[in-house]
Amino acid sequence: MPELPEVETIVRSLRNAVDLAFSNSPTLKDRPGVVRRKIADVEVNWERSIAEPDVVSFYRRIHGQTILDVQRRGKFIVFQLDDDCLLIHLRMSGDIRVESRINNPLLPHDRVVFNFTDDARMVFNDTRKFGRVWLVADACSVLERLGPEPLSPDLSTAGFHQALQRHKRAIKPILLDQGFVAGMGNIYTDEALHLARIHPLEKASSLNYERAEDLLKAIRSVLEEGIRRNGASIDWVYRGGDFQNYFRVYQRTGDACKVCGTKIERIVVGQRGTHFCPTCQPPEIDR
Ligand SMILES: [Zn+2]
Repeated sequence: MPELPEVETIVRSLRNAVDLAFSNSPTLKDRPGVVRRKIADVEVNWERSIAEPDVVSFYRRIHGQTILDVQRRGKFIVFQLDDDCLLIHLRMSGDIRVESRINNPLLPHDRVVFNFTDDARMVFNDTRKFGRVWLVADACSVLERLGPEPLSPDLSTAGFHQALQRHKRAIKPILLDQGFVAGMGNIYTDEALHLARIHPLEKASSLNYERAEDLLKAIRSVLEEGIRRNGASIDWVYRGGDFQNYFRVYQRTGDACKVCGTKIERIVVGQRGTHFCPTCQPPEIDR
C-alpha cells in the first residue's frame, strides 16, 4: 500500500516527470505532467471507484476543467481544478499514469480515464478496486479529519509530545491513525520506531519529551529517505523506487538487525504485521 513517500513520488511525477510512455507523444514530450492540461472527457469503467458525486454528475462537472496544480495531503493526491477539487486515494493497489492515447490501448484494471484536450490522458489503474476518486467543491470536506503533515514545520515537537500524552494505546496504531498524523503506513511506522529505539507496543503517553522528539525526528528521517529513494517498490512498482533495499526492520523477520545483529522479530499489533529488534527496541518494562 503506497504511503506518504510513494504518493509524494507519484505527485512529483504528475507535476513534471518525463516518462518513457511520453516518447510517442509530441505534446507530452514538450510539456510532460498534468498541470495546465484541460480535461475533455472522462471514462469510468468501474463506477464504485467514484466516491463522490454520482457518476453522471462527475462526467458533467469535470468536463472542460483544467488542472491548475497537483499536491499531496496525507496519502491523498489532490488536483486543484478551475472550479472543483479532484482527489484520488490509491489505497491498496491504485496507480496513476500519464501517457499518450495515440495507438495506446488501455490496460486491464484501468478504472477511470481522464482524456485531455490534446492527445494525452491520465489513467487511474486499480487491480483490487479499493481506490477512490472524489470531485468536490472544497477538498476540506474529504480531508478535514486528517492529522498534521509529519514533514510540515507546523508540527512542533511540543505539539507532537502533547498529542502523544493524550493516548494510552500502543504507539504503533497511534502512528497509523491518519487522524493523529497523516501519511504513515506499516512500512514507515516500523522503520521510524526502530530508528527511534521505541518498542511498537509502548504506550504513547509514556514517551517523555526527549523520546517524543527522537520519534518525530525518526519519522521525518525515514520519510525523507523514502522520498529521496522515490518510495519503496513493495507489492506494486512505484516509479522505480528502491527504498525496499534499505529497510531496517520491515519484512526482515529473522535477519540480523543492522545496528546490533539481533534477529528481527515479527509480532501482530492491531492486526498489522510489525517488525522490530528486541535489543534496540526493548519493551517498556525492561528499560
Ligand atoms: Zn538491534
